[in-house]
Amino acid sequence: MKIGLLVVDSNYPNLALMKISNYHKARGHDVEWYNPLSPYDKVYIAKVFTFTPDYKYYINADQIEKGGTGYDIEKVLPIEIDRIQPDYSIYNIVPDLAYGFLTRGCPNRCKWCVVPQKEGKISPYMDIEEVVAGRRKAILMDNNVLASDYGLHQIEKIIKLGVRVDFNQGLDARLVTNEIAQLLAKVKWIKRIRFGCDTPGQIAEVEHATSLIDKYGYKGEYFLYCILMNFEESFARVNYWKSKSRRFLPHCQPFRDLNDPHQIIPQWQKDMAHWADRKAIYMSCDFQNFSPRKGFLCSEYFKTL
Ligand code: SF4
Repeated sequence: MKIGLLVVDSNYPNLALMKISNYHKARGHDVEWYNPLSPYDKVYIAKVFTFTPDYKYYINADQIEKGGTGYDIEKVLPIEIDRIQPDYSIYNIVPDLAYGFLTRGCPNRCKWCVVPQKEGKISPYMDIEEVVAGRRKAILMDNNVLASDYGLHQIEKIIKLGVRVDFNQGLDARLVTNEIAQLLAKVKWIKRIRFGCDTPGQIAEVEHATSLIDKYGYKGEYFLYCILMNFEESFARVNYWKSKSRRFLPHCQPFRDLNDPHQIIPQWQKDMAHWADRKAIYMSCDFQNFSPRKGFLCSEYFKTL
């Protein structure tokens, strides 16, 4: 059997496709990235986002299976595929790095987020030992691991095992108590700790959480996901961290209306993300002095306030 894998809209390692690949390879099937010049028995096509265009060409296969949030928010992998190890070779991932989830879901319902609708309330999913399967580092894509007692026990286990991790979807600063800060300061992080900072109120919450973690000895970076909505408020929130310290790195994400696939992202959001997300630019110039295009300075945005 010849299997093709195709991702429509993302270069990020796709966990589902990695598992599908291993599932088929274990059955002696040939698996490769889809090549339109070659016929396939089955092609798996993944679309991550709801707002990106679909693959618009003919797919040369007897059977096509679509998956991912961009196609069907409710579709999940069959259990026999979901619980197997991913095939890291399709993305040439280094041998000591694993990808996975310890928990699924989130108890919150932020209006820009698809997770509660897709995964429901938070629940235990896998054990860190199952995820790493002997590797020393893990990218963990949990959406709100601190909201789960199981997640906190998993973090204790991560510390005990000495696995280096990145919770790459961010942690919830509101949940960082003194005990949790102590725990987080003991984790070996891959580069940084990430938090969401999506509202004005979360500035103080992130301040509080990070000062607690620092108190217990953490000296690394904080990476802060910042949703962009209203210009004035978003600028104040993102720019707040610039004066704080070079350890705090905001990362802008334009607001996506989940009910409007044709939404047009305002130019200021693209420009603010361009400025904040390229650290060399963010560190060296203020947003007002940033020129994303010839003849345009972002100070123009402030004239209409
Ligand atoms: S806390 Fe994070 S994962 Fe949970 S709903 Fe809000 S944005 Fe989504």
